[in-house]
Amino acid sequence: MRVLFVSSEIFPLIKTGGLADVSGALPTALQASGIDVKCLIPGYSTVLEKVENITYLGTLEVFKNISCDLLTGTVPNSKLEVIIVKHAGLYERDGGPYTHPQGHDWSDNPMRFGVLSKVASLLSIYQSFWDWVPDIVHCNDWQTGLAPYYMRQQGLTDAKSLLSIHNIAFQGNFEQHWVKSLELSPKDFQIDGFEFYQQVSFLKAGIFYADKLSTVSPTYALEIQTEAFGFGLQGLLQLRSSDITGILNGIDTEEWNPEADPYLPFVYSEKKLSGKAKVKTALQQQLHLTVQQDAPLLGVVSRLTHQKGLDILIGSMPELIALGCQFAILGGGEKSFEAQFNAYAEQYPNQVSVTIGYNEPLSHLIMAGVDIFMMPSRFEPCGLNQLYGLRYGTPPVVSNTGGLADSICHSNADTILNNTATGFVIENVNKMSLLVTIKQALSIWKDKKTWAKIQKNGMKKDVGWKHSADAYVALYEKLLN
Ligand code: ADP
Repeated sequence: MRVLFVSSEIFPLIKTGGLADVSGALPTALQASGIDVKCLIPGYSTVLEKVENITYLGTLEVFKNISCDLLTGTVPNSKLEVIIVKHAGLYERDGGPYTHPQGHDWSDNPMRFGVLSKVASLLSIYQSFWDWVPDIVHCNDWQTGLAPYYMRQQGLTDAKSLLSIHNIAFQGNFEQHWVKSLELSPKDFQIDGFEFYQQVSFLKAGIFYADKLSTVSPTYALEIQTEAFGFGLQGLLQLRSSDITGILNGIDTEEWNPEADPYLPFVYSEKKLSGKAKVKTALQQQLHLTVQQDAPLLGVVSRLTHQKGLDILIGSMPELIALGCQFAILGGGEKSFEAQFNAYAEQYPNQVSVTIGYNEPLSHLIMAGVDIFMMPSRFEPCGLNQLYGLRYGTPPVVSNTGGLADSICHSNADTILNNTATGFVIENVNKMSLLVTIKQALSIWKDKKTWAKIQKNGMKKDVGWKHSADAYVALYEKLLN
């Protein structure tokens, strides 16, 4: 079975969030399950720098005035083959994959990801220009949402399309004039098409035209069909309900392995947890926090956005600081969150450390060094950090939504007794609920024996990709039948 896996970010080539982690690890796990998979990615400068063994494949006319070169190569330290869409004017720039260095979205994002989607559809055409033709085009998020549409528009392919929704809040909705330059048919600019409130919607196109849909957790698959979580697309998703599958993400257990993590000054395992306390000390030293084992250290590694519920955490910090808690915060995003976290760091430098920006090594150090990991998200399609928390013996405090609800079992007398407790679940995303739950966690944390039990329950969990990859293979088979 041949699968073209299309994504706008793939770790370790380029990453802004969980989509990259999934796009780096899932195709590798699929390969291990016998699937012939190739990834398609835009040729951002960093991708061109990092991909190895690059060779020129051919030139494609994508739209009337846009041609691009296709290159192939391999991801470093992996057997994964990528096809790169090379177009210097569209992709080779400073800044992020979606944003200008000053933070605003690139104004030509519709063209940048329209081209990616169109190339995916062209590669699905039988004998288009090489002999590798996919059976399935696996699209991911809005950036690839037009691919299923183009596949149908051309009507020249036997390949099936699957759209995985990693976050329905990001939809890629753009002004109507893009219909022309993206060579979309004006007749499909309507409710039974890619139109969404008078705009061209990449994600809606994907949801409407893909043969099957998936999301990254079973609970999120249900949530997005409701008004509270569907961001306006719930009606269409209800219509497509029987085509939606929720598959919980796994994690790359080699990249995230406390027994052999090159970013950690000390390693540890479920059987020998003592190294974790040493990492805590090293982290406190590095972040200039008071070095103190009996001060509970809470961690955040996240995009700093409303979705992540961090305003609730910010509101709770004075009480938690008064209780003696320390904080190791890493993230970037909305300026007001950055400023509020920074204000606490200035006021309580021995208890609060804030690092603004993206920092891979520090994210590993925080995951290993803190006692409790915080994820009070308002919605969380899957969430990866809580899974890293399980693997690193760092029980997470999570809200009761999406993949958090599917992966974390709240610690109470029963679940501690039957060894299923792995973290703490907030009932509602508000300050009262958060404080109650953190205080519960802190009181159990003081009982070192019970805490170690919860840590070990999490560390024993199989959070790798094998199980999820099997579920995707089953879904692919269903698509082809
Ligand atoms: P989302 O995709 O919504 O941002 P996820 O929990 O699914 O959230 O994935 C986020 C990924 O990005 C995790 O691997 C997390 O460790 C990483 N991450 C987020 N912010 C940072 C940061 N500032 N520095 C390093 N890694 C980060």
